[in-house]
Amino acid sequence: MLEDVEVMLRGRARDIVLSNSLRDLYLATSWGQRKRIARSWLGWVSIVSVGVSGLNCVLHRELLRESLLMLAIFIPILHAALAHVWSRPRSSWIEGLTVPIAIIALMTAGGVLGVYAGGLRLHDNLGVVLFASTTAIVIFPVTLAWTVIGAITAVAAYTGFGLLDPIRGTREILVYATAFALVTGCLIPARNSINTLLQHAFLLTLRDLLQGRALEDANLRLAVLATTDALTGLPNRRAFEEAAARLWLQPGVNPPSIGIVMLDIDHFKCLNDTAGHASGDRCLAAVAGAIRACLTNNGMAARYGGEEFICIIPDATAENLGQLADALRASIEAMSLSNPGLGQGGIVTVSAGAALALPGGGLESLAILIGRADSALYQAKSRGRNQTVTALTPLAAERPEPEPRAGDRLCA
Ligand code: GH3
Ligand code: MG
Ligand code: MG
Repeated sequence: MLEDVEVMLRGRARDIVLSNSLRDLYLATSWGQRKRIARSWLGWVSIVSVGVSGLNCVLHRELLRESLLMLAIFIPILHAALAHVWSRPRSSWIEGLTVPIAIIALMTAGGVLGVYAGGLRLHDNLGVVLFASTTAIVIFPVTLAWTVIGAITAVAAYTGFGLLDPIRGTREILVYATAFALVTGCLIPARNSINTLLQHAFLLTLRDLLQGRALEDANLRLAVLATTDALTGLPNRRAFEEAAARLWLQPGVNPPSIGIVMLDIDHFKCLNDTAGHASGDRCLAAVAGAIRACLTNNGMAARYGGEEFICIIPDATAENLGQLADALRASIEAMSLSNPGLGQGGIVTVSAGAALALPGGGLESLAILIGRADSALYQAKSRGRNQTVTALTPLAAERPEPEPRAGDRLCA
């Protein structure tokens, strides 16, 4: 839609032709404004009409009855009915029809009073109501066709009542009617220009709105890209660190119960070296999937770097953290993904290290907790890999040297 709107805005405003859907949107969004314009014209003309009937009561007492009937009753009641039509959205032909009806009502009121008054007053009255009618032609926010019909109605009504003029002859009235038709006709392009400008303004607002939405979508996609690891679909390290910091700093108990599990694929280099990098990539994606499936709603997993994954487990306990960490490790072993670097029948396994922070445990920072999980992971590596070490208290050696790796020998 944005493209269509931009194409329309590139052309001239007067060449704008709205598609059906855009037209419906334009009518829906401009409804409140159009309603106010139409109803305020109907209201003000009614007030003026009642005011004029009051004046007539003083100045032309002989027309008291006709004045009250036409100006204080007929016009206000008819305008109230038309205002009711404009109280909720209707089809454009019903909205348009209110223009000739309002004009006929005005011309009738002026014509009837003029006929009763007789003499020059008929023409004077017709002139006044014709003037009021022309304001309706310019002001009513209806389609061009109804504006034209309104103008024709006004001139036709003027001519019809004018022919009853006892002083001016038919010829003179027709000359006047032609002059009025020319003047009224000039108002039609004016109304058309207003419609064009309103549609142009609508398209500008719509473009801003659509561009804003497109920008929001792009920002959202960018935010996802910036926080997601493309290979595994897991949150990346930056996303993990932000989420973990939020959890660590959450108001309340400090630190809260938090478990960290670090997982590192065993002998992954061997897999890469023997099966190829693409197989290594597929293995990383599969391991990530298994971690995600095993963790379900127990916490958040992320790719921490290379072939290392990290999980943060809120509300972890000394009892469940070790079990969860080992369940993660076991779920990867259970996939039995081949690691040809470990010889025939070799499968992909991970080593896991877990560490726990408990309220009142005296742990100063998240970094220390992660460091402990890392040390536990290295112990798991040292103890022969494919196993879990859980550090519920600080480990004696923060980062022991891993023992020589069996895989190194196999891959060499
Ligand atoms: P250990 O059991 O001690 O963890 O040994 P390892 O071989 O798993 O560990 P090492 O650190 O020696 O090798 C990790 C390898 O992971 C090296 C690197 O090329 C590979 N790697 C890191 N990121 C990627 C990746 O995105 N795709 C692939 N295919 N390989 C990766
Ligand atoms: Mg490894
Ligand atoms: Mg590693």
